[in-house]
Amino acid sequence: MGYEDVEQYADRETFGKYSDLALRGAVNQAPDFVWCPNGCESGQIHEAGNEQPIVTCVKCRFKFCFRHQVRWHEQLTCAEYDSFVSDPENFRSQIDILNEEAETLRLEEQSARRTQEEADRKLAQSLMAAEQREEAERQAQWESAERERREETERRRLQAERMAMQQQAEKMRIEAVRKRGEEELSRRTVERTTKPCPGCRWPIEKNSGW
Ligand SMILES: [Zn+2]
Ligand SMILES: [Zn+2]
Ligand SMILES: [Zn+2]
Repeated sequence: MGYEDVEQYADRETFGKYSDLALRGAVNQAPDFVWCPNGCESGQIHEAGNEQPIVTCVKCRFKFCFRHQVRWHEQLTCAEYDSFVSDPENFRSQIDILNEEAETLRLEEQSARRTQEEADRKLAQSLMAAEQREEAERQAQWESAERERREETERRRLQAERMAMQQQAEKMRIEAVRKRGEEELSRRTVERTTKPCPGCRWPIEKNSGW
């Protein structure tokens, strides 16, 4: 009995059931038809098939895998999901592998950065030490020059003092010589123009009273 026969002879209710069954049978044959695994009794055609296996149920919005008929296995491809199911203990997904590689890379970069920072720090220290050494040398040179300036000033001051003392001494000597000369002259004048008083020996004018 075919579809047309049923349509022709069956009552409405029977035809309805048959039609439903026939529909189910027909759609079950279709390779890209899938029932929602969430139990909502809805089914749909998923034309992309295994190529793009993520299906969202048109009725309950459940997101599932077309190939595996389970809730969509987030972060796993269907091939990885197969590996996971066959050996869950030792399974490592591509994302795990990428994460591990990224972690390894991160640790390597961290190590390289620390090495670089250490080298930079040592360089900075040696530059600072050299700078401090130079600064100390500059300071020492400045102090030495300053000491020489002070010594030179003191030397000139002493020299000027000595010269002043010599000039003073010379002036006093000249003055003394002049004074002695005047005294000598005065003594001779007195000797020439006076004679000692016979009584008290005080010089008296030769012409007075003589
Ligand atoms: Zn559903
Ligand atoms: Zn799958
Ligand atoms: Zn006298």
